[in-house]
Amino acid sequence: MASFDLVVAGAGIVGLAHALAATRRGLKVAIVERDLRARRSSVQNFGFVTLAGQAEGVTRSRVLRSRDVWLEVTAAAGIPVLQRGALIAARRPEALAVLEEYSQTPSGSGCKLLTAAATRAQFSSASKGIVGALHSVDELRVEARDALPTMLRWLEEAKGVAVHRNRAALAIEANGLATDAGFIEADAVVLAPGSDAAAFAPVLASRQKLHDCRLQMLRLRAPSVKLPAVVMADLSLLRYEGFATLASAAALRERVHAEQPKHVAAGVHVIVAQSADGSLVVGDMLRGRNDRPLDGRLPGGGLEAPSRCVARPARALDRHHQRPWHEHRVRHRRGDDRGALPLSHDAIAAPSEWVVRWAPLIRPGGVVLDVACGSGRHARWLASLGFEVEAVDRDPGLFVDPPEGVTVRGADLEDGSPWPYGERRFDAVVVTNYLHRPLLPVLVGALEPGGMLVYETFAQGNERFGKPSNPAFLLAPGELLDAVRGRLRVLGYEDLTVVEPRPAAVQRVAARRD
Ligand SMILES: Cc1cc2nc3c(=O)[nH]c(=O)nc-3n(C[C@H](O)[C@H](O)[C@H](O)COP(=O)(O)OP(=O)(O)OC[C@H]3O[C@@H](n4cnc5c(N)ncnc54)[C@H](O)[C@@H]3O)c2cc1C
Repeated sequence: MASFDLVVAGAGIVGLAHALAATRRGLKVAIVERDLRARRSSVQNFGFVTLAGQAEGVTRSRVLRSRDVWLEVTAAAGIPVLQRGALIAARRPEALAVLEEYSQTPSGSGCKLLTAAATRAQFSSASKGIVGALHSVDELRVEARDALPTMLRWLEEAKGVAVHRNRAALAIEANGLATDAGFIEADAVVLAPGSDAAAFAPVLASRQKLHDCRLQMLRLRAPSVKLPAVVMADLSLLRYEGFATLASAAALRERVHAEQPKHVAAGVHVIVAQSADGSLVVGDMLRGRNDRPLDGRLPGGGLEAPSRCVARPARALDRHHQRPWHEHRVRHRRGDDRGALPLSHDAIAAPSEWVVRWAPLIRPGGVVLDVACGSGRHARWLASLGFEVEAVDRDPGLFVDPPEGVTVRGADLEDGSPWPYGERRFDAVVVTNYLHRPLLPVLVGALEPGGMLVYETFAQGNERFGKPSNPAFLLAPGELLDAVRGRLRVLGYEDLTVVEPRPAAVQRVAARRD
């Protein structure tokens, strides 16, 4: 396998942007994408580079830079820019006041305020209730579901990026990326798996306070509506910081909260974009990962009523063609979207790279036993992948606030009491940094057919590095292999010295019951 300067995991927009930046520096780049073609947030979105209302400072300068990169890439790769500009239509006088104030700021100086009549002249589908609008000219919109694959092909063909489709990144190692179809050597790895970031790097994700949320969207067929630009409305003025922090926004907020409390609580923000096929994409409602769709429970069907305010589509809409959909995205607690994670090795040391590497072979949705679970680093991570986890430890109090899907049991596994799980069988048994030799045959026997044993602990030689140094806790050469020989099929075995998360002599095995 050729070696690279950079390998990028994930071919969403964040992965592609990093790959592009690296090729500009003359680096040799590979991209690994789990799907045949990207089908997550980056192709489900509005494809909209939004300028109006972005917060001054870092956010706005990043958006301006993004727009320049998009302009360059769309021209070079032959990606059509479908719309330019945005029309922010005010339905309430308080919203118009916000637009007026914004137009006086440095960011708003290039925007034009329109009267109600001028708005309707430009925008024939505008609702009668509109009292004026702000026309911003700098926005761009592409059809994301076409733009992303085109950009990937362009990177491959014109920029020489090696693209591995249908291939999953499993773990970052010191000299590259482990994937389900072999190792890719690289000096640096960019991890851009979108909402799967927490599964890859749970410690880092929790340190950065990432959380997963959903956007609920609607696609409407509206043959008679022709939008001149992307359209936003009153509720958006409370979402975008550049508007929401203006003095005049207080009055708008008060009125909207009084008139549309359910929409505000549901995080509805109105933005309507017209796709190349003429349909309207209406968004969005920000929901927690596990929240149920809200459509039926909001006045006017959630997104539909607010969209009617800006595009008068009540008659134009063919109700049979409306359907809501959801897409996950990762947000920072402070509210800004996060892209690639700046990975440091200490961050990826938990969960153990050995567990991460073999977890994809555990039956999806299966039950995993986490032995000597401690504070639950593996149980939490496995639960986040959708496994049901039984976690056992002599001191269950170490596992604070176990997540849904994890059952914690307190049991002393070394005092001669009966094995707490009796005849129960598991789809996997995971053990790290723990050794009580009499348990080894019990753990092997606790596997269902097809079940995986994923075991990693300290080995003889570790005394050079510190604790544990007691031979009772250190594996003899080949001891894990001996424990499974004749009973399980060995898929992977290593006996080595590692440097991360700290120098240690370890032995590890991944083995399956046939
Ligand atoms: C409905 C919606 C509307 C939006 N509208 C806009 C908008 O108009 N403008 C805007 O700027 N932003 C918008 N956003 C936000 C924007 O789409 C996201 O911030 C962005 O797409 C995130 O890109 P990403 O590359 O991080 O993630 P993703 O698009 O999720 O890409 C991650 C990729 O990584 C791959 N992957 C995951 N795990 C692995 C693995 N183990 N190995 C290999 N590959 C893996 C996935 O298959 C996927 O292709 C919107 C988001 C949503 C959901």
